[in-house]
Amino acid sequence: MHGEGVRGGWKLGATAVRPLPPLRVHGGFGSGAGSAPRRNSMRGVVLKGYRQVEVRTFPDPVPGPDEVVIQTRVAAICGSDLHFYRDTPENLGPRTEMVVGHEPSGVVVAVGSCVRNVRVGDRVTVYHHMGCGTCAHCLAGDIMLCEQHVGIAAVGRGADADYVCVPERNCLRLPDELSFVDGAFIACIAGTAYSALLKLAPSGRDTLAILGLGPVGLVAGMMARAFGARVVGFELVAERLDLARRIGLDYVFDAGEVDPVAVARDLTGGRGADGALETSGSPVAQVQAVRLVRKRGKVVFAGAGREEPCIAPWWIMQREVTLMGTFVMPIHLYEDLVRFILRHRLDFEQVVTHRFSIEDAAEAFRLADSGRTGKVLFVWE
Ligand SMILES: [Zn+2]
Ligand SMILES: [Zn+2]
Repeated sequence: MHGEGVRGGWKLGATAVRPLPPLRVHGGFGSGAGSAPRRNSMRGVVLKGYRQVEVRTFPDPVPGPDEVVIQTRVAAICGSDLHFYRDTPENLGPRTEMVVGHEPSGVVVAVGSCVRNVRVGDRVTVYHHMGCGTCAHCLAGDIMLCEQHVGIAAVGRGADADYVCVPERNCLRLPDELSFVDGAFIACIAGTAYSALLKLAPSGRDTLAILGLGPVGLVAGMMARAFGARVVGFELVAERLDLARRIGLDYVFDAGEVDPVAVARDLTGGRGADGALETSGSPVAQVQAVRLVRKRGKVVFAGAGREEPCIAPWWIMQREVTLMGTFVMPIHLYEDLVRFILRHRLDFEQVVTHRFSIEDAAEAFRLADSGRTGKVLFVWE
């Protein structure tokens, strides 16, 4: 039974899977099948506002000339999806009619007539931001910085559905050694964590503090250890503290019971941590991140809080602290990230706590919204 993570205490790997409906390879699909009749068999998850979730059927996607249709095998719920889940129908606007989600992986089942580098049968993950394709940021691979950037779900290409249709350039082929779960992580949070850590450049000489041990913080902790750093994690939620301990972070503290600034100093002979990654978005944690690093320490903000923290500029100035933001990852980091995952045998399954069929999307979102889970997945098996 799914949902046992809440009712029966913490339980890892609770599953609820239903079989995928048969793939309709004739009719709506086929290479460049733009004129074929469309069927309405695709199930997709829609957020209606005020935590209401619907599973609807949509027309099966037909690829445009430079597009690819992917049969979804895994799609993960992201912390950013939960902002939409809690939002009002008015703020959601057209999103109340579109499939949610941006963390898919799966198998290519149809390609458009101009597609050259992706083939039917390829196992792929998806780079989930789309840009104009011509500005300096897009040409540099920093698609997330394009003035016209949008996530795939904002333009009707959401991931929490039987099929996802995206431009060829957003498809990233998965090596055989990586699973579809790995692919769903790479689609968003593994890239976010990796890009953030490259800004901090942790090494075996460093103590790195991670504030917030949700899925992004947990993956970042796993990666920071692979970089060689000593990792100290802070979190308020008991289930996530347990996950962090199982993953093997060097130190894990309940941020409600200790002062992270004092802990970081104690662990470093009074100097402070060499770097800090803030993933919670809490203004309290954001201030702590700035105050717990050493002189000339670095802080990266990856949590999407909207409140403004109060940080005294003199603290940053006198200690020559560097503050940085990070957002998604540049698409050109993909191959480097894959090599890093394989070289260090990073096991993202350790961060997964729940798997659902999309038929049970309401329960999946309710559970993810509790903030007491690791990564919550939709799976097709
Ligand atoms: Zn995401
Ligand atoms: Zn652009």
